[in-house]
Amino acid sequence: MTTPDPGSDRPLVVVTGASSGIGAASARALAADGWHPVLGARRVERLEQVAEETGGTPLELDVTDADSVAAFAAGVRDLAGPTRPLRGLVNNAGGAQGTETVLEADEDKWRWMWESNVLGTLRVTQSLLPLLLDSGDGHIVTITSIAGLETYDGGSGYTAAKHAEGALHRTLRGELLGQPVRLTEIAPGAVETEFSLVRFGGDSARAAKVYDGITPLVADDVAEVVAFAMNRPSHVNLDTIVLKPRDQASGMRFHRRT
Ligand code: NAP
Repeated sequence: MTTPDPGSDRPLVVVTGASSGIGAASARALAADGWHPVLGARRVERLEQVAEETGGTPLELDVTDADSVAAFAAGVRDLAGPTRPLRGLVNNAGGAQGTETVLEADEDKWRWMWESNVLGTLRVTQSLLPLLLDSGDGHIVTITSIAGLETYDGGSGYTAAKHAEGALHRTLRGELLGQPVRLTEIAPGAVETEFSLVRFGGDSARAAKVYDGITPLVADDVAEVVAFAMNRPSHVNLDTIVLKPRDQASGMRFHRRT
């Protein structure tokens, strides 16, 4: 991949959670397609690496903190201009914590999941929507999950949060009808990233077990879909895209070869 010229007037796309996994891969795919990615996450040193590869701009962002989102949005406004409009937002920051049953649900983990996946997406979208509309041709992609379309045992906190994030995103599709902004929900099944490591509090053996005997998706598989959706002509809105590994039929049903 060639590194795009950071000084050029490419349209801006904000990617939240760009320090790892699907977000970092999406930033790379979009940069290769001529976008200037603005990279948001808490681990700034990781963002700087992705920025170096993509010619993008790293900006610290904690989506659970309203002040951090406000400072991030101010940074995006400073970068944007008539020759470099904000045309894209990939709401990707988020994740899961734990696999407790409803009976044993841990409120702190629920709060973490709701803050990062639901309220985080709300805050970032609210703060950047005016710029996206001003561009005359904006696009919001939200990475929900198959957990936003179904439930599974031990997944209530995450499935509840992803259902809510999906509801927020799909509501916007109606509320923004007639405005120059497209909305695409991308709902992946199992993707091997740091997702399971985070879910299991850094327990790498437990995280690896999730992918035992299957061929999971990788972050690039999802990133290609993000870029495909964003590069359709302006009148084409891909509403919801579900992608899963061939070895996965639903949140709980896998074909394992071991
Ligand atoms: P990942 O490798 O763990 O990446 C998660 C990203 O979210 C990181 O860049 C992390 O950055 C960022 N993030 C988390 N909390 C944040 C916060 N408070 N503020 C800003 N950024 C935050 O996992 P991933 O698989 O790429 O996950 C990306 C998205 O895909 C998530 O929304 C996840 O729910 C969804 N998803 C994943 C899968 C899967 O199987 N992997 C399947 C369906 C959907 P920092 O830690 O540096 O802040």
